[in-house]
Amino acid sequence: MIEINNVDKLFGTFRALDTLNATIGEGEFFSLLGPSGCGKTTLLRMIGGFDTPTSGDILIGGKSMAGIPPNLRPTNMVFQSYAIFPHLNVFENIAYGLKRLRLGRAEEEARVKQALAQVELTGLGPRMGNQLSGGQRQRVALARALVMRPKVLLLDEPLSALDKSLREQMQVELRHLQRQIGITFVLVTHDQYEALSMSDRIAVMFAGQIAQIAEPKEIYQNPATRQVADFLGGMNFLTASELSVSGKEFKAVLPGIGPITGHLSGKAISDPSTAMIGIRPERLRIVWEGENAEQMISGKVVDRNYFGEVTSLQVSIPGQDEHLSVVETNDFGADDIPTGSEIRLTYDRDAFIIMQS
Ligand code: ATP
Repeated sequence: MIEINNVDKLFGTFRALDTLNATIGEGEFFSLLGPSGCGKTTLLRMIGGFDTPTSGDILIGGKSMAGIPPNLRPTNMVFQSYAIFPHLNVFENIAYGLKRLRLGRAEEEARVKQALAQVELTGLGPRMGNQLSGGQRQRVALARALVMRPKVLLLDEPLSALDKSLREQMQVELRHLQRQIGITFVLVTHDQYEALSMSDRIAVMFAGQIAQIAEPKEIYQNPATRQVADFLGGMNFLTASELSVSGKEFKAVLPGIGPITGHLSGKAISDPSTAMIGIRPERLRIVWEGENAEQMISGKVVDRNYFGEVTSLQVSIPGQDEHLSVVETNDFGADDIPTGSEIRLTYDRDAFIIMQS
């Protein structure tokens, strides 16, 4: 549906986008994920025609979009600031863009009603734009884009203004809606959970470049770079005293932990001396009193953070430069372990990865 071919964007001498390449499928929920300033919005605006690449090309449905203005593209954009007209009611807000299509009143009304139903606002048509809650404004903005029946919906941080519980509810609804209507969604977000839970695939961006494009599980489990690993939730990086890499597998001896095996994440290792071994915090587990485990690590809790359902422990391990971060559910009392305690940890055998720094 969308092809991004060698796209560069320069603002003066500043390179905001650097040789981007990506293909987005028809009916795909695709997210652009990355920290503030990495170029997500710039790319989205170019797909929508609000900005032009300095070089490279964007194709939609096999057709180059060079020189084609936003209103003649099969795309529609939901902006971060919903820009609802306060002096128009919900119905008029949604119908606004339809005017130029001159569909006739009956068709226009049918379309607006359908869009209202899609965003679960049936019955709210007469309400004025300035009498809406944040969640309702967001839905109206969505309906206003959907009513144009785009082939591609572009969403620029559409949920960022909502509070946490409403945002989570809307994430589920947006995903359902996308499945139901089956068009391509391209979502810009800096929230890794939003991207992981909603997307078919994610492009992770840093400083104008795409670091990795893959399905959420692949991105999380096999991050291509340290930056991707860190951005998608913490990763422990470990010091090795011995290391041998063979194809996609590796063996290592980790001081304080012992011999381990693992697999390659990302590109092939070109220089083992600068390669990094990682494990996610939730793949480490506490071995409780009376329990036994094959691989045991002894350490000392140096800090802890309580998050309600889980607790994050910082554990110092002799021989490891950095503290290990361990995330445990609180069912067994991880939240009651005092700082300073000696604890034993074990790990999932398939959880170690190696990547080139
Ligand atoms: P955010 O999540 O904060 O919106 P982003 O990843 O969407 O960030 P962009 O808005 O795409 O980032 O901006 C990418 C970079 O390009 C930033 O450094 C930004 O300051 C710069 N930039 C964007 N638009 C312009 C412009 N019109 N002129 C100059 N620089 C710009």
